[in-house]
Amino acid sequence: MTARILGPGQPSSEVLSTMETYRSRDVRWRDGKCFTLAYSAGPEVTALGEEAYRRFSGENALNTSAFPSLKTMQEQVVDVVTGWTHGDDSVAGFMTSGGTESLVLVVRAARKRAEREGRNLSSMNMVLPTSAHAALEKGADYFDVESRRVPVSGDWRADVAAMRAAVDENTVLIVGSAPQYPQGVIDPIAELAMIAIEHNINFHVDACMGGVTLHYLEEFGEPLPLWDFRVPAVTSISVDLHKYGYTSKGAGVLLHRNKKLRSDQTFVTDNWLGGMYGSSGILGTKSGGPIASAWAVMHHLGDNGYQHATQVSRASAIRIARHIDQHPHLVLRAFPDSTLVAFGSQDPETHDIFALAELLIAKGWYMDRQGPPPSIHLTVNAIHETHIDEFLLDLDAAVASLGDSKGTAGSYATTE
Ligand SMILES: *Cc1c(COP(=O)(O)O)cnc(C)c1O
Repeated sequence: MTARILGPGQPSSEVLSTMETYRSRDVRWRDGKCFTLAYSAGPEVTALGEEAYRRFSGENALNTSAFPSLKTMQEQVVDVVTGWTHGDDSVAGFMTSGGTESLVLVVRAARKRAEREGRNLSSMNMVLPTSAHAALEKGADYFDVESRRVPVSGDWRADVAAMRAAVDENTVLIVGSAPQYPQGVIDPIAELAMIAIEHNINFHVDACMGGVTLHYLEEFGEPLPLWDFRVPAVTSISVDLHKYGYTSKGAGVLLHRNKKLRSDQTFVTDNWLGGMYGSSGILGTKSGGPIASAWAVMHHLGDNGYQHATQVSRASAIRIARHIDQHPHLVLRAFPDSTLVAFGSQDPETHDIFALAELLIAKGWYMDRQGPPPSIHLTVNAIHETHIDEFLLDLDAAVASLGDSKGTAGSYATTE
């Protein structure tokens, strides 16, 4: 690496135009060409989110008594998500920077609860299906909790009996997802909850992906298993707003069953020369941008906006899933419980799924490659409504032109 000399200041217009050139090779999520990482309910909604973010980007949610605007907006956002997850008045939560911060805090809170209750454990573990999100590994690594991954059942859902068998006296946390990211199915939350009741430990539902969608799907009468605070043993739920809430990046919500459990998340100290310092999550200084963006987009869309977004996303996901299910060379991993579609190849020798992904990416689409097993993963959202025909045509053409080329696995997240 060479050090970079900043040099003399440049006019705003020049700075902005340089950034626009940098952006020219980014994935085209605003055009509905991207099936991961970014979400859109259309340019008007995105523009409102960006404007709200801009107006509050310099405000600091580290201290909400200095910025009562952020306190009010955060409380209202948390209240709406509490409603979506059927929480009662004792449910308490905060906004986080997203799913990863929520899940890292979930692991930390489980450790804190065990300490608070004087369990005096020499080591701690958490029990979770192999499908649960990678960010839980991050939490386990940060807070020295052993991660006990239990293989999923044949339908990709958590295997309840195997999870029960993996729990011991050092277990502080059980996790299920609604839905899990890799195959898009909902874990048997009520059944997993029974294990948490037997051991009186934390049970987290990761609804980062599904929290908004599942609420509205249920309103439409889709038969879904209970996945939220209606299951009494659920102690916490994470819901991301920068996914199917369609708000700017940096916005998630972590809810706890009650304030006592929430106290295992927060941090307070006066052990320095700067006075009392408390914070709800990992960040200190915390931009007001994500809070304002979430508040604005949620109140602009309203229930009718989210109903529409959910309906078109679900319809698009089902169209893709049915198409793949009938395709002679592709295999659908699971019929989607919400809006995530994962598929592989019937015969990896003749049709390499990562090579297929590379062909589609070369055509201007973007998607995740994941495994095991080697699969393409699509996060279908509202912006895709008008692009499904084109996508399916390109998909079929790409499969037909595959030949025997082999692709590489890519990565859902990077370190460079
Ligand atoms: C996206 C996601 C996360 C992680 O959230 P980030 O916002 O990317 O940090 C966790 N769990 C599930 C199920 C997710 O889909």
